Amino acid sequence: MRDLRLLPKAHLHTHLESTVRPATIRDLGGEPPVQDRPFIGFREFADQRATVRALLRDYEHFRRIAEEFCQDEAAQGVRYAEVTFTAAAHGERLGDPDMPLEGVVEGLAIGAERYGIQTRVILDHSRRRSAERLWRSLKLAARHPQVIAIGLAGDEAYPAAPFAEVLQAAREAGLHLVHHAGETAGPASVWEVLTVGHAERIGHGIRVLEDPDLVAELRRRRLPLEVCPSSNVLLGLVPSLAEHPLPRLVEAGLMVTLNTDGETSLAAEYERAREIFGCGDAELADLARASVEASFAPAEVKAQVNAEIGHWLSG
Ligand SMILES: [Zn+2]
Repeated sequence: MRDLRLLPKAHLHTHLESTVRPATIRDLGGEPPVQDRPFIGFREFADQRATVRALLRDYEHFRRIAEEFCQDEAAQGVRYAEVTFTAAAHGERLGDPDMPLEGVVEGLAIGAERYGIQTRVILDHSRRRSAERLWRSLKLAARHPQVIAIGLAGDEAYPAAPFAEVLQAAREAGLHLVHHAGETAGPASVWEVLTVGHAERIGHGIRVLEDPDLVAELRRRRLPLEVCPSSNVLLGLVPSLAEHPLPRLVEAGLMVTLNTDGETSLAAEYERAREIFGCGDAELADLARASVEASFAPAEVKAQVNAEIGHWLSG
């Protein structure tokens, strides 16, 4: 039994504001949320997250949570992370569009130096918000080279179509596009982000098995899914980990990556894949390799982490 904290991995789907340590929440004057049952609907989840986000007010707060994120991820064997951050929402709330992201970028740079983890930033955009805000996120991304992608998130009852124009502009500007879809909404939401959203990866996508044509299309394009089993159970979308579709997604020949959504540690999520899905070490190494392949990391980083995965497996 190899130690899964030592398995080198990439982490592609996690929200910075969901990773704030309980001790840090207390330091910022908040009360860490205790969640001992699944959320009642997406709204309750979103409201709880909003309470934590409201505690972040200063440059130093953003710098601190980004640095602590790096320390915590590195301790899980994460070598490379693409962390999602809702920069525009903080910027509007605090009346300073750049400050929150600048704090995060500095925290990540310090984290890289201290903990040896490489990171990039994905700016997400709630589907409930205006296209104007997404244009602002695009401009923000252009000013910060650490930002490599933008994507739609939030309540999937809201369509992606109103953002088609700005997403096209993002693509032309050289940004990657990764969207949440197929989590709460069905296969139609995934088709929509593939067509109007030019998605290069799907955040969650756990409902794609409902549509065999969609499965065939994703397999043909080798388009990765960012699967977050514990988060799905916590949000009440899947009754239990034992019933989670991850093994069936892998069996269907889809490119599956394992992620936390910010709701648990990544090593713990790999541990659950071992215990509940019965993955052996070779399959766990395959999941780690898929995370590296599906990432937007530079080629030399991919080669390095893949070599380290090989050492883990042969060690
Ligand atoms: Zn997410």
